[in-house]
Amino acid sequence: MTYATALLPQLIEAIADAINQNAGEVTALDQAIGDGDHVVNLQRGIHALMEQRHELVLLDWVAAWQKIGMTLMSTVGGASGSLLGTLFVAMAKAGKGQILDAAGFAAIFNQGVESMKQRGKSDAGEKTMLDVLVPVANYLQASAKADIALAGVLAAVQEVALAGVESTRDMVATKGRASFLEARTLGHIDAGAKTSQLIICAICPVLSASPA
Ligand code: ADP
Ligand code: MG
Repeated sequence: MTYATALLPQLIEAIADAINQNAGEVTALDQAIGDGDHVVNLQRGIHALMEQRHELVLLDWVAAWQKIGMTLMSTVGGASGSLLGTLFVAMAKAGKGQILDAAGFAAIFNQGVESMKQRGKSDAGEKTMLDVLVPVANYLQASAKADIALAGVLAAVQEVALAGVESTRDMVATKGRASFLEARTLGHIDAGAKTSQLIICAICPVLSASPA
């Protein structure tokens, strides 16, 4: 993968559209087992990235991920702000001097997700955004090893993300605010998993349409 950071404005705009279009649905999810602020938190961060999008294109990926991470940490707030911020800052750290081919990106993304786990003292299976991000990280690493063509990877990643969201329905939350409700979280989809999937499903078509 050798996309230029020139794609960032388009990526950020696509993410903003996806989150805005699904804001009502996600808020309802977060109201059911959280405090209902997740979309507003995220929109604050996306708005800040929209403002920075023309500066971000002047940076390389490592510097851009660092800046995105710092922006998300300082604007999003809530549990999701520090976790998403950690993802990008850790990707910047892991990405220094690395080649951004499929295997390189998969390893960098995986490092980012590993840092989120440490930050949140959490893992997949706890009804959080990690139930989307961990399977996606695993799939990216497996597909890089199997040398699957990019178009196929981008299509499959969206399926993996959707399955991840759906998997949270049958989980009892053991991390974050939802964990206070214990078994009453059964039957509900996690809001952070849903927004992670929306973001991934917004990014993939932009990448598919751009020459790598
Ligand atoms: P808060 O819960 O502080 O109000 P948000 O509403 O912005 O923050 O984000 C809630 C989302 O954050 C949850 O839906 C869940 O996906 C994710 N989350 C919360 N705690 C953790 C954790 N320890 N590890 C991973 N994800 C978490
Ligand atoms: Mg919340």
